[in-house]
Order: sequence, then structure tokens, then C-alpha cells
Amino acid sequence: MNQPLHFDTRAIHEGIKNHDWEGATLPPIFQTAAHFHSTAADLGRTFSGERPDHIYMRLTNPTNRFLEERLASLESGRAAVVTASGMAAISNACMTLLRAGDEFLASSSLFMSTYALFTNIFKKYGITVRLADPLNLNNIAAQITDKTRFIYMETITNPGMEIPDLKQIANLAHENHIPLMVDNTLASPWLCRPIELGADIVVHSTTKYFSGHGAALGGVVVDAGHFDWDTDRFSDFAPFVKQKGRLAFIHRLFKEHHVNFGTTAAPFHSFLTVLGLSTMGVRMERHMTNAVQAATFLREHPKVTWVNFVGFSDHPCHEMAKKQFAGKGFGTMLTFGLADQDACFRLVDHLSLILNLANLGDCKTLIIHPYSSQYVSFPQELKDRLADPCLLRFSVGIEHIDDICGDLSAALETV
Ligand SMILES: *Cc1c(COP(=O)(O)O)cnc(C)c1O
Repeated sequence: MNQPLHFDTRAIHEGIKNHDWEGATLPPIFQTAAHFHSTAADLGRTFSGERPDHIYMRLTNPTNRFLEERLASLESGRAAVVTASGMAAISNACMTLLRAGDEFLASSSLFMSTYALFTNIFKKYGITVRLADPLNLNNIAAQITDKTRFIYMETITNPGMEIPDLKQIANLAHENHIPLMVDNTLASPWLCRPIELGADIVVHSTTKYFSGHGAALGGVVVDAGHFDWDTDRFSDFAPFVKQKGRLAFIHRLFKEHHVNFGTTAAPFHSFLTVLGLSTMGVRMERHMTNAVQAATFLREHPKVTWVNFVGFSDHPCHEMAKKQFAGKGFGTMLTFGLADQDACFRLVDHLSLILNLANLGDCKTLIIHPYSSQYVSFPQELKDRLADPCLLRFSVGIEHIDDICGDLSAALETV
């Protein structure tokens, strides 16, 4: 067979035949902290990098390596590093690019922990983040300075549900000789591959759609391998460029940050993620149709005041979603409003199937009231800007759609 295989097929098969694992169709879990070597010289050559082999789990592990190769392929990148969590991937990727005194530019609409990391924690290290409206290209362009090291975007913002134009933002970044990094967690590469639109680095929480079962935590950084780091702005990358050329970024991330901050993924979690990937294609198809049906059900319900779902043709980002997601769907996330916080609490408390918990992209339908949970410890002003007491966030799962809508319908009776 000569034609390239489809995404759904590669999510199941990619890479397994490259290994001699006694005919196993899934990677074995290499549950070993370290690997022995038969001679002192061999171990020495492995440490010096002359001989590619595994040494110690914090550095590399065969199960993790397998997942890295599969995810790099699924994201159309050249190399990847898997990490203990999505936040480990994001912090590693950013820290690899940033030094004290540097600036970077990020979407003003960010995942909550990413927001805290960028605006609060990085400040301690003398790093400045400038926030820009992800839908306003002029606003983004106006904030690029000669200290800007990269632009950071999310494919679909949460809970705003905005879809930035990644192609245009990548062009803008490249005109300024800086890379574009994208958190693609909410879309997944099944729906959108930012590298094919020009992004240079993709980060993920694999905890979400890649796994789907909600049993494993993980993250990944994928390097497109096309950014030119051999410039004055990135002169600190020179030793890594010399060794790895266009793969300087992922090499530096691995050598400096991953290994020394110890952000290693547990191989058991990598195995569970591979297991999840086997069903990704069918799960995503069901997610997409269920989301449209659940959103429509909610919009038509008299107790629901509004629904924010990019699948609706009157949504401001609908056309961008159609273009950027190649007509495959609109994601599984939506938010909706009820009269007040009490109504939101009554709905959540009367659901019997849909789970009230802090996760998304799971095969199970999930609901959360972000204002009183995820944002509860944010300063009042910020909380009011980022969330809304009348808002519920909904992640549509892959159960039978009639059971999802039936549960919503019964609980809405009590509101
Ligand atoms: C969940 C999530 C993260 C963080 O991932 P963890 O695996 O929980 O560390 C980052 N970005 C987005 C968009 C997420 O949804």
C-alpha cells in the first residue's frame, strides 16, 4: 500500500511495526527506573550521545518514546517530548524560550492554570507577558517588541469559545522572526493541525481527547522542525542549532528543562494514552455529532438563556471554525447560561448521568460551574472578567445522545 494512511488509522497503528516487541500490538510498559549496559564503554558512549540508548527514566523510556513518535506524527511535527501533565508541557516549552528580561505575547483568553503561570509565576523570573485579543490581529501586531520571544495561542479558547486565525497569526510571527506556539488541547489534531497552518510548536494536555477515558494524566510538546533559530534574536540557541539545526528547540527543551526540572511522564500513563488513541477516530466522530445535537437541544430550551457553541451558523467564529477544522466538526465544548448562580447549582445537583467534575474531552459528558470552582480563588475583578456566575461549561461525551438530552431535560425541570 503506497498511499499515506489516514489520521484515524495512524492513531491505531503508527510505529508499532518499527519495534521487535514479540508481536505486541501495543507498546510494552517499560517499568524500570534505569537500563543496564553490558560494558562501561557502552554506558559512557550512551551518556555522550554517540550511542542512542536509554539510561534513566527521567531522561527517556521506551514506552514514552513510542508515544512521542506517534504524537509527533499525528500533529504533523518532526519530534516530540511527552511530559507528566499538560501544564508540564506548557511550562517546559515556554521556559525553553524565555530568559529573565524577555517578553512574550499571549492570547488574553487562556486556560486557567496557563493564565496563572503566565501572569503570576513568570513575573517572579522577570518575564513579561503581553496579553492580546486573540481575534484582533492588529492588537496582536501592535504588541510585538524587539524583546518578544514568541506568540502563544489556544486553538479554541475556554470558556470564551473563540477561534483565532492561526494561519494569519503564524504569518505575523514569522514576519517578525518569532515562533508561534499553540495549545491544541481543545481541538485535538483530529480536528485541527496547527503545524499545517504554520505554527512552530504545539503543546497538549493528552489527559483530554488523546486518552478519552479519563484514566491518565499527560502532556506533549511537538516541534514542527521548520523554524529558523539561527538569528540574532535567538543567539542563545546557537549551540543547539549547531547540534540539531531546525530541531534546536525540542533538543534544548529536552536537554535543559525536561531532564533538569524532572517533568517526566510515567510510562504506565503513556501506555494508557496509546490505548486511548486506538479509539480516537470513532470517539471524535461521535463527540462532534453529539455536540451539535446537545447544543441545539439547549438552545431550544426555554430555561436556557444563551448557548455559546461555534457550531451555530450565527456564532462570530463559525466561518473560521469551518475553515480551520476542515468541515470535520466544531469541537465538543460549549457554554450556556441560566438565570443565575442558583439555577446553575440546581441544574448540576439534579443531573444523574452527567458528571460534575473538572475535566474535559472525556468520553463521559461533563459539566462544571467555573465561577464557583476553577476561578474561585481568583481576585474578584479578574473572576468577573474571565467567568460569569450564570455560566455552565459543558463537555459533550459519547454516550447515546438521547440519554444526554434526557438527563439535561429532567434536571432543567427543577431550575
Ligand atoms: C487541561 C488543559 C491543560 C492542562 O493540562 P493538564 O494535563 O491538566 O496539566 C492545558 N491547556 C488546556 C487547554 C487544557 O484544557
